[in-house]
Amino acid sequence: MTVSKTWVKNYNELNDFEKLKLVNDGLDIVEKLPMYQKYGFESINLKERNLLKWAGVNVQRPRDAGYFLMRVKIPSGIMNSDQARVLATIAKDYGRGILDLTTRQAFQFHWLTIETISMIMNILDKVQLQTIGSEGDCPRTITGNPLAGIDPDETLDTRELVQEVSDYFQGNREFSNLPRKFKLSISANVYNAGHAQINDLAFTPAAKNNRYGFHVHVGGGLSSQPHLAQKLNLFVLPDEVLKVTIAVATLFRDFGYRKNRGHARLKFLLADWGKAKFETELLKLTGPLERGGIDLTLGWNAGYFYGVHPQRQPGLNYVGLSVPLGRLSADDLLEVARCADKYGDGSLRTCLSKNLVLVNIPTENIEALLAETILKRFTPYPKPFVGYTVSCTGKEFCNLAFAETKEFASRLAQTLGKRVDLDTPLRIHVNGCPNSCGQLQIADIGLRATLETVKGRNAGKFELSIGGSLGMSAGFAATLQGAVPSGRVHQVLEDFISLYKTQRHFQESFHDF
Ligand code: SF4
Repeated sequence: MTVSKTWVKNYNELNDFEKLKLVNDGLDIVEKLPMYQKYGFESINLKERNLLKWAGVNVQRPRDAGYFLMRVKIPSGIMNSDQARVLATIAKDYGRGILDLTTRQAFQFHWLTIETISMIMNILDKVQLQTIGSEGDCPRTITGNPLAGIDPDETLDTRELVQEVSDYFQGNREFSNLPRKFKLSISANVYNAGHAQINDLAFTPAAKNNRYGFHVHVGGGLSSQPHLAQKLNLFVLPDEVLKVTIAVATLFRDFGYRKNRGHARLKFLLADWGKAKFETELLKLTGPLERGGIDLTLGWNAGYFYGVHPQRQPGLNYVGLSVPLGRLSADDLLEVARCADKYGDGSLRTCLSKNLVLVNIPTENIEALLAETILKRFTPYPKPFVGYTVSCTGKEFCNLAFAETKEFASRLAQTLGKRVDLDTPLRIHVNGCPNSCGQLQIADIGLRATLETVKGRNAGKFELSIGGSLGMSAGFAATLQGAVPSGRVHQVLEDFISLYKTQRHFQESFHDF
C-alpha cells in the first residue's frame, strides 16, 4: 500500500507543524537517534525535538537542560516480571532510579540523555516493549482491561485482539501522520475498565443473537475542550475490530482537521459531521456491519482493582496494589517483579488509575504475599484519599506546567486522610495546566493550576471542578467559579466533603450528589 496524502487539500491551510510533518515522517526520527547520540543534545534542532515524540521521547523541563522523558507502551496493561526487571534496570542505570505509571497504563522514565535513548529502545525491544507510538500524531497505546483473560467480569478475553491491533499500528507509516494523537481502548469488562468515553475510538462489551462482540464509541477526549465519545449504532464481532479501527483511523487521517492543532482531534470532526454521517463514511470503508446489540456495560470501576479477588480460573487470585501517585523507585519495581515470580507466574498488570495488579496467585500463596514488606507501602487496602489521588507529571518534569503537582497531591491526600473520616473512596485528580494528563474531568474532585500571576509569578492557585464520572450517567466534572490558593485547597475540600457527608442520601456518589 502506498502512503495516502489525500488529506492534503490546501497546503496554505496547514499549520506549521503539519507542513513540517509533510516533509518529515515522524517515524524517521528513530533513524536519526544514533546521529544525535554521537553529536549530542545541541545537534537536535527545535523542530526535530518535537518530532522525537514519535519515538516516545519528550524534552524534560527545563527545555534546554538536555534531559528527556520517555514512555513505554504496555498495551492493555499486560506485562511480565522480565519486562518489569528491564524497566527497573533502565530506570536505575539511566533514569535516576525512578519511574512513573501513566493514566494510559504506560511506564515513564525521566532524566534520560540523548546518548542513551537509542540503546534503551534496543534493550526494551529485546523484551517486546515499545516506545514508538506512545506519543506523537499516531495511534497511541491501546488501553483496556488490565484483567483481560482472568476477569470474572469480562465477556471476552481481549488479549489477542489488543495485540493484533497494537501490532498492526506499530510503526505503520500509513498512520504515522494523523492530525493529532489517536487514542484507542478495547475492553470487554462490564465495568468500563477501558474508560471508553474519553478515547477517540473505544470498543465496549455487547451481545447479539447469543454472540459476544462490541459496541463502538468515537470522538472522546479530554484536554481543554473535553468531549464524551458517542456510541455508534454498530455491533462489531471480535474479528471485525481491526477493520473498524483501520477505517476510523483512515477517516481521521483523511478528513481530520490540520489547520489548528487545538482543533484537530477526532472529536471535532465528529461534532461537525454528526453520528449519521460518520457511520455512513465508516461503512463505505468497512463494508456492511451489523446494527444494534445489547449493551453489556453495567457501571464504571474507575480503573481500580484493590484487594484480593478470585479470578475466572478456580484457585487463582488477583491482588490490586496501590502505588501512591503512580511513582515507583527502580527497587520498588524489582520487588514487585520478585513477588510476581515468587507467589504467581510472573504476570503483572498496569491500571489506568496508575496502579498495579499481581495476577495468577494461587490461594495458598496469598497470606505470604500479603506479608511482604513491599505490600505495606503498595498496599492492596489503601486509605480513601492516598489510594484514590491521581496527579499529572506537573512542574517537576513537564514544560507546560504552571505548578508542581505530585508533591502537592501527596501532601493533600495525606492531610485529608488525617483530618477527614470518609467511608467511601473519593477520587481527587490534580492537573498542572489546562491540558488533562491528570484527567481531572472524570474525577470526583478535580484541581487545575491556573495561569493567574502576581507580580510576574504564578499565583499558585487551583481551579476546582466536581462530580466527574464515566459511569452509566457519564458526565464531566463541573468547574466551579474562582480559584483557591494552593495553601487553602485542603480546607476547601474538607468543607466540601463535610457537606457531602452530611447531605448525601445513603451511598450517593459525589457525581450524583
Ligand atoms: Fe504537563 Fe499539563 Fe499534562 Fe500536567 S496536564 S503533565 S502540566 S501538560
